[in-house]
Amino acid sequence: MIRRPPRSTLFPYTTLFRSPNILHLQYRQGPEIPELQYGFPDSHFLCFPYETRRTGIYTAGCVKQPMDGGASVDDATGAALKAIQCMELTAQGKAVSPRAGDQTYPEFFLQRCTQCKRCTIECPFGVLDEDEKGTPLPNPTRCRRCGVCMGACPERIVSFKNYSVDIISSMLKAIDVPEEDEEKPRIVAMVCENDAYPAIDMAGINRLTYNPNIRVIPLRCLGSTNLVWIADAMSKGIDGLIMMGCKHGDDYQCHFIKGSELADVRLGKVQDTLSKLQLEAERIEIHQLSIDEYKKIPAIFDSFLEKIEEIGPNPFKDF
Ligand code: SF4
Ligand code: SF4
Repeated sequence: MIRRPPRSTLFPYTTLFRSPNILHLQYRQGPEIPELQYGFPDSHFLCFPYETRRTGIYTAGCVKQPMDGGASVDDATGAALKAIQCMELTAQGKAVSPRAGDQTYPEFFLQRCTQCKRCTIECPFGVLDEDEKGTPLPNPTRCRRCGVCMGACPERIVSFKNYSVDIISSMLKAIDVPEEDEEKPRIVAMVCENDAYPAIDMAGINRLTYNPNIRVIPLRCLGSTNLVWIADAMSKGIDGLIMMGCKHGDDYQCHFIKGSELADVRLGKVQDTLSKLQLEAERIEIHQLSIDEYKKIPAIFDSFLEKIEEIGPNPFKDF
């Protein structure tokens, strides 16, 4: 796996972004590009090395990491090409990386908005402004289409044309749940399409096998998980829910900056939902997975199934 150079070898190049008011961006999150833990301005250093967290701004050379003149020229060429691609895609109403070409964008049914500001605070790319009352003001050309705002909204009023709280809820409700006496647990895996879902594909390509009682639902990002999906799955009688998203942290970033981290935080609060349903917290597990860890998938599924078999069937099965 590609790793960043250790912090001790880095130049203080990030002072470019630390100096006040150089870029003068008009974002709710501030006038400069947000930095990662060690001052890096990038949005995903492995998969989208030129991207920053500001759509349309690309970094190259020593702004990004230590490199010599020749490498900087190559790097600048790559960044310029990405900038051209961004202008072309944006002019067509399409997203740039990671969902390059996506023509959907979040739509807000604002009549039911309570101005709680969760979506504007949690959007990893600072896309959403807000008016003086806290109503979100969308900026589609800045949007990366991750769906984190959809997961954040307690009123469930954010949706995409082809991805919404209702669409995933309907998928969950359409899953066949075997009866208790069939002794087949039904497990649902909700997996991020960026690393975890391709990792499951890789497991298949490499002919690894896993338990057939698992049904997989891909998500744009684990951060798009709305807690109502947990209640829907559990009240439908699904025995266990396993969630898989990108690794977070500075060594391996979530493709949407902090989507998988937000999912961790939100699922930490899911205990309330499970308590209301009188169900065990162990019925839900969250995992971080990079694509090259696909060999771990059968073991992750097997150990979760063993645990669910110990806990027993979901008592909502027959309702
Ligand atoms: S889809 Fe993602 S980038 Fe776009 S507004 Fe929502 S949270 Fe922000
Ligand atoms: S999270 Fe939902 S209810 Fe809260 S401000 Fe955003 S759109 Fe409105």
